[in-house]
Amino acid sequence: MERVLKEFFGYSSFRPFQKEVVSQILKGKDCLVIMATGSGKSICYQLPPLITKKTAVVISPLISLMQDQVMGLQQRGIRAEYMGSAQTDRTVNNRAENGEYDVLYMTPEKACAVSQSFWTALLRRGVSLLAVDEAHCVSEWGHDFRHEYQNLDGLRPFLPKVPFVALTATATHKVREDIVQSLNLQTAFTAVSSFDRPNIFYGVKGLSRTAAFKEELAREIMKDVGKSGSTIIYCTTIKDVEEVVRALQKAGADARPYHAKMSNKLRTEVHRAFSTDELQIVVATVAFGMGIDKPDIRQVIHYGCPKSLEAYYQESGRCGRDGLPSQCWLYYTRGDFTKGEFYTAGSTSVDRKKAVMEAYLAAQKYCATVECRRSTLLKYFGEITTTHNCGNCDNCVKPGGVHYRNMAEEAHLLLSAVKSCGGKYGLGIPIDVLRGSKAKRIVDNGFDKLPVHGLGRGKSPNWWKSLADQLLGLGYLNDVVHSTFRIISVADKGDEFLWSAANTGVISDFMLPINQEMA
Ligand code: ADP
Ligand code: ZN
Repeated sequence: MERVLKEFFGYSSFRPFQKEVVSQILKGKDCLVIMATGSGKSICYQLPPLITKKTAVVISPLISLMQDQVMGLQQRGIRAEYMGSAQTDRTVNNRAENGEYDVLYMTPEKACAVSQSFWTALLRRGVSLLAVDEAHCVSEWGHDFRHEYQNLDGLRPFLPKVPFVALTATATHKVREDIVQSLNLQTAFTAVSSFDRPNIFYGVKGLSRTAAFKEELAREIMKDVGKSGSTIIYCTTIKDVEEVVRALQKAGADARPYHAKMSNKLRTEVHRAFSTDELQIVVATVAFGMGIDKPDIRQVIHYGCPKSLEAYYQESGRCGRDGLPSQCWLYYTRGDFTKGEFYTAGSTSVDRKKAVMEAYLAAQKYCATVECRRSTLLKYFGEITTTHNCGNCDNCVKPGGVHYRNMAEEAHLLLSAVKSCGGKYGLGIPIDVLRGSKAKRIVDNGFDKLPVHGLGRGKSPNWWKSLADQLLGLGYLNDVVHSTFRIISVADKGDEFLWSAANTGVISDFMLPINQEMA
């Protein structure tokens, strides 16, 4: 194994888990490989065919990704090719059937569409494994669900005894179970690497004034330009990409856009310029990412709350692959948080909508937390259960630590408002009540007559939302997520708090950290 690794890839030793996975595959075992981006998953399926001289079939979701990989392998003298759905080239087909490829990439559509005789022919020459890359795509709970991935277990009967290898960089326990089930993995050997990326600094900036958002971002970025190195700025929409590029260019930065509406030629050019350090900043949609193998990206910035922590982890993880200090900043406004409907719109099933919404709420909580960002991420991925101080995120390195204030009065008001509105709504109505709104939906329900009506005028809606986030996090409020909205109610702990105040006439102290939005 070491000899082949050195011969074809030039590496003198294995990274954690690579050797174990390869050995299991050689024994014919199914494998589930969950390793962080950049940790070297590809070797796990690229090495066995070179040892056994039998083709490895690799299912991958994107043509561009396959092209990159095929090119990389060919340069190393490995016989690699890809078959996409649109491809009708008979020679590739024939050569594949002849066992002339070490690594054969296919889109899931193609893999499900090729005839049984293709598999029979391939099998006659020998198949070392079937790898399913980006395996989280099979799961409705995953952040990048793809229907085509769901039929892959149908390949089993065509490839008896061939080990199936599922690989992904992101998997919560739920997704992990889904992968095993959907692909029908048999007592799979599971390799789970740590998700921690210690060299990455995580930080979040909540910006309040939406209008000045881009300018503020541009100013912040300009402070570091030059010393920050290669930077990707991710935006959620093409419109945002264009606006941010404009703001940056106006501020004198060397930034260029990258998104799906640009021509292939232009995109390739931006990619090339970025790879060769001619261009320092790319402002992009998620279209820019898969297949980017630049080891020395120093900074990934998110403009707007991402749609899930899986996506955030994957996108932010593109920096610092060389292990050197790198930063991931996330800029958001509360306005971002209303995009739930936008994200759930494309989902067909109720379960899927709920999953998308939950994933989005987890990302919102990451934005709002005053706890360690790294711990928040690692807890989400089920790697740790308690929060600790990582010393390398904005919350852990806050000068003088986090500041606390007694927010008993405000917490009492918010809990009372949620309770007196009946716990049947999101946060909008109780906060409107606190702020003394006379809107129709308030008056029609008689909420303008509630004792708490207008008692919270002194604080902005965002201030109250931020408090609600904290009360949710501490278990004083409950949220139940429906497909496109959530309902907030007072939890047992909150009831006790209200009850004790009513009984004793004193509201007990409630020290809470002051986050950016509350400052
Ligand atoms: P992943 O698919 O997990 O994101 P890749 O397979 O693309 O990661 O590998 C990431 C980088 O690590 C690549 O540049 C690859 O060449 C390098 N790499 C992989 N395995 C090793 C190894 N054993 N020794 C040194 N470098 C490696
Ligand atoms: Zn931390």
